[in-house]
Amino acid sequence: MGSFWYAFGKPSQDSYIWILPASKAYLKIIQCVIQEDVQIKAMERFNPQPKPVKEEKKKTYQLKRSPIKRKLKPKEKKAIDKESSQALVKKLDKYFSLFIRQKHSENGLVECYTCRKKMEINQIQCGHYHSRRFYSVRWEEMNCRPQCVSCNVFKHGNYPEFSKRLIEDHGRQYMDLLEVKKNRKVKLERTFLKVMIEHYKNLVK
Ligand SMILES: [Zn+2]
Repeated sequence: MGSFWYAFGKPSQDSYIWILPASKAYLKIIQCVIQEDVQIKAMERFNPQPKPVKEEKKKTYQLKRSPIKRKLKPKEKKAIDKESSQALVKKLDKYFSLFIRQKHSENGLVECYTCRKKMEINQIQCGHYHSRRFYSVRWEEMNCRPQCVSCNVFKHGNYPEFSKRLIEDHGRQYMDLLEVKKNRKVKLERTFLKVMIEHYKNLVK
């Protein structure tokens, strides 16, 4: 029997049952079946079919890719908020500046608080005694007066003259109060900015 298996190759267990009563005709059929099987296997080796295991993996991959609404990362959220807050600050600056200039105007003309030069309302700026970087007094009427470009920009607010005139007009207490207001800690909330914008928008002509 050993030489028989050597000649035809060992068949699978199913075929083995049929071989037992081995007649010559049976052996021929089995030989053909085995050869065919070998050929198919050789072809498969040459043109490998995709394994079913891989397909399963692909399916789970597709499931993972199923549409899920992408949530914004905290950084992206912050960027959007920051952008809109900045836009609100800019808008509030615009209305507040116009309000200050109109408040101190007389017959369409405004006097520079620090050099007393008279100018038209759209040629003058809104000067801050304490810098605009202190948000606590950025939109504080006590802290702002109209100033020409020369005093506000080139003389950086003409601080000595500004201070001198504020004391002349309102006294030391006014300056102290302004100092207290400057040192307050403020949190720039968008709701606050929106309310302020509405307030000054209604006050300007
Ligand atoms: Zn001036």
